[in-house]
Amino acid sequence: MNTGSSVREFEYKAEMKQLLDLIVHSLYTHPEIFLRELISNASDALNKVRFNALTAEDLLDRDAELAVRISIDKESGAFAIEDSGIGMSEEDLVANLGTVAKSGTLGFMQALKEQQKELDGNLIGQFGVGFYSVFMVTDEVTVETRSSQPDSKGYRWRSGGQGSYTIEETERTERGTKITFTLKEEFREFAEEYRVEQIIRKYSNFVDFPIYLDGKQVNTVTALWQRPKNELKEADAAEFYKFIAGDYQDPLDYLQVSVEGAVAFKALLFLPKEAPMDLLYRQSELENRGPQLYVRKVMIQHECRDLLPEYLRFIAGVVDTEDLPLNVSREVVQTSPVLAKIRQILTGKILGWFEELAKEQPEKFRTFYKAFGPIVKIGLNTDFTNREKLIELLRFESTKTAQDEFVTLKEYAARMPEDQKEIYYHSGASREQLLAHPNLEYFQDMGIEVLLLSDPVDVFVIPSIHEYDKKPLKSIEKADIDFSKRKAGQAEPLVGNLLEPVLKLFRDTLGDRIEDVVESHRLVSSPVTLVSGKNAFDSQMEKMMKMMQQDVPAGKRILEVNTSHPIVRNLSGMLIANESNPLLRTVVNQLFEGALMLEGSLDSTTAFLGRMNELIEAATLSR
Ligand code: ADP
Repeated sequence: MNTGSSVREFEYKAEMKQLLDLIVHSLYTHPEIFLRELISNASDALNKVRFNALTAEDLLDRDAELAVRISIDKESGAFAIEDSGIGMSEEDLVANLGTVAKSGTLGFMQALKEQQKELDGNLIGQFGVGFYSVFMVTDEVTVETRSSQPDSKGYRWRSGGQGSYTIEETERTERGTKITFTLKEEFREFAEEYRVEQIIRKYSNFVDFPIYLDGKQVNTVTALWQRPKNELKEADAAEFYKFIAGDYQDPLDYLQVSVEGAVAFKALLFLPKEAPMDLLYRQSELENRGPQLYVRKVMIQHECRDLLPEYLRFIAGVVDTEDLPLNVSREVVQTSPVLAKIRQILTGKILGWFEELAKEQPEKFRTFYKAFGPIVKIGLNTDFTNREKLIELLRFESTKTAQDEFVTLKEYAARMPEDQKEIYYHSGASREQLLAHPNLEYFQDMGIEVLLLSDPVDVFVIPSIHEYDKKPLKSIEKADIDFSKRKAGQAEPLVGNLLEPVLKLFRDTLGDRIEDVVESHRLVSSPVTLVSGKNAFDSQMEKMMKMMQQDVPAGKRILEVNTSHPIVRNLSGMLIANESNPLLRTVVNQLFEGALMLEGSLDSTTAFLGRMNELIEAATLSR
């Protein structure tokens, strides 16, 4: 190793160069973000040293005040920010400030390239490119640091954000990190006291350590969640949410919890207005989330996944308990019965919160349900203790609601006519497609309400609710539904010896492409439809599973034929006149493939179109 003052130069890795290049050469909508990022790093470093101090025997400057100090000089544009945090060793410097360590950073670059838009400071924050954002406002940065390890040395890291950086040893005596630079001419505003104060209040007001600007404390250090309910102002709560969640929007709602008993804890929880785009589709996103865990006002874990079940981890906030030891490790947190108890209580409180929103503030509830409904529903399959509560939260469009209006199972059950024994649902890709489906005809005709399930998650969770209020839930495409009620005045179906030959024609023509052909009692205006056998998967479910590359037994469908439909009656006539008429088979095939097409499961349209032309030709010929 080198000794003394030799300066060593290091090359940045290729992707690091790319990243810096992007930062240096982009336009910024929020250049002031650099300060938020530096303060946030300082605060992290302070948190770490506070945490280590609980267990470490030896620690450099054990009694140093935990604080962030900023100094600025308007004349020269000099900017300095120093913390008494955990500091960095030489290896830390190389690992943390020399390479793109996090996958998040690469994601950031990808997002930037894809969006082709100007570099929004918020994007920087989101992906945690953190430290490097300082190159938005300066050409050269110096980092002087010393780790809290008792035998550590001081180091100076310096870089112009181009291709390389240097590291040298220094005589620094204090623990912590000091970052200094000169602001570029066009960013001199950040050396103005009022401006820096404003930025701190805006982005960093809730940092858990005092932030001094030229000796004067700027932020309010308070544990907001410790305040009694009537002393917490909504505006403060909203600011706090934005700070901890990194959201630019106010929260949709918040919940304050204070529990004393078998376990004691306080919590301040927030419901975001919107779900992050990829939350639903990337399980891993949920796995790594969770509120912050504090023990007696000391932050123990930034995103504690053990505080909430997965289906609620989009909730942001803070949970602070007295009942865990301060030096609790991650492993202990995971298996701690105290945490299990907290999770159980919180889950109950949160579901109660949703319920109350639904009752008291239906507009808010709708916003919430649209954003997070698909995630919360997953709880039906994972949280059996709270299943009943979750079922009550479900909302559906139905044949009796307008678009975007919802009905609960309770409401549905309450307005079921006396003689209706089952709750019906119909699943598919969209409301429009669902409403156009022939399987719905009977229900529409008889005025029977059908729930319309168009959220892809529904097919995984709804069939598992076998019954509600003792009424079985049933997909309308099942074959075993009682269609015996009819309206008067409908066209007569084929009867007696006319019926069987027509069904046989369908069976012979379609062969093993179908399970069976039966007379339909559910159709009103369509000639045929496909339904599934009693024990088969719902067609929508089958489609989803295929999409997810799951092996599904290709469930054959049952073709139902509407024997009072003119086409079918005409077929019967043609059959009697000449049973070898080739048009018969063409029509049957066409009807069958038309039904497949309607469900979105016709693989190729070539034959379908060929037959269509054949039929048009026949129709135009006879004129
Ligand atoms: P992030 O903070 O999101 O991890 P940064 O690029 O801002 O990303 O920082 C990279 C790493 O550098 C941090 O994770 C931390 O380990 C280290 N670091 C940055 N600033 C400080 C500081 N003031 N004190 C100690 N370590 C720091």
